[in-house]
Amino acid sequence: VKKIAVLTSGGDSQGMNAAVRAVVRSALYFGLEVCGVQRGYQGLLNEDIFPMDLRSVGDIIQRGGTVLQSARCKEFMTLEGQQKGADILRKHGIDGLVVIGGDGSYQGANKLSKLGIKTMALPGTIDNDISYTDTTIGFDTAVGIVVDAVNKLRDTMSSHERVSIVEVMGRHCGDIALHSGLASGAETILVPEVSYDLKEVADRMHHNFACGKRHSIVIVAEGAGRGEDIAEQLHIHYPNLEPRVTVLGHIQRGGTPTPRDRNLASRLGDFAVRKLIEGESDKACGVIKGEIVLTDIDKVVNSKKEFDHETYELALRLSQ
Ligand code: ATP
Repeated sequence: VKKIAVLTSGGDSQGMNAAVRAVVRSALYFGLEVCGVQRGYQGLLNEDIFPMDLRSVGDIIQRGGTVLQSARCKEFMTLEGQQKGADILRKHGIDGLVVIGGDGSYQGANKLSKLGIKTMALPGTIDNDISYTDTTIGFDTAVGIVVDAVNKLRDTMSSHERVSIVEVMGRHCGDIALHSGLASGAETILVPEVSYDLKEVADRMHHNFACGKRHSIVIVAEGAGRGEDIAEQLHIHYPNLEPRVTVLGHIQRGGTPTPRDRNLASRLGDFAVRKLIEGESDKACGVIKGEIVLTDIDKVVNSKKEFDHETYELALRLSQ
């Protein structure tokens, strides 16, 4: 490859900028030309493509969001849209593309590779729902934000309310709930991967209060239920339980990325460029047990991320 492009797609995540910076600077270091595509696949179809130099990615490593902006694009889901995208890239002399995004963005990269564009996909999503990588870019920052919020809630809970329900992101993957729950000492963690019985949750809460516990934190992934519904059910089982609900929403996707996310993004961005130079294509870059690894995109998008039941059990054991 001689000229590559980089785009961010799907929901933004903290560390996407660090990944863009790494792609641009590594590409230039190795003598490639590099372009940015504004607004994901939509920007590609709009031909919103511009050259990037060393200075264009200055002062962004510490910023949340993505300077390239992101979008969701229906037209790109069609073969005609994908063909148009591949033709536009070729017209600009671009033969390699780095896509930073989630599962859907990976599928788009997979389709482009079948049309002759060399592609690399990087896991840019807070949800940690991508297979063949232990962690995604933004996950560590999002977990930190939830833990910070729970710390604050604990202060006011001890003074007033005794049950606090925190609804966090994760439609299909409970990793944010699990890891923030373990780190913040939540008593209950509800995730889409594990079925639960709210009567049992209420009984345990009631019992723990009777044994002297002063407060109780429930962390629920959005895919496991709405915080408000859970509060209502707990109150029905034990009318003296009056849980307060906090929905963290997009706050989890903002803010400055942690050093861990920045470094992951930097390593993956550089790796993707080097693999494109080696002639690899249609691959996802990830990190497994500290090692940066390359996996076929097909394999990644066709497998569901395994839930870490061991850590879930640990969180339960420690939450008594
Ligand atoms: P998040 O995890 O934040 O939802 P995502 O990358 O999964 O991120 P999606 O909206 O699913 O977000 O996908 C982003 C874009 O990728 C879509 O708007 C669409 O343009 C493209 N895309 C998604 N699925 C496909 C597909 N099957 N084929 C081609 N392109 C796709």
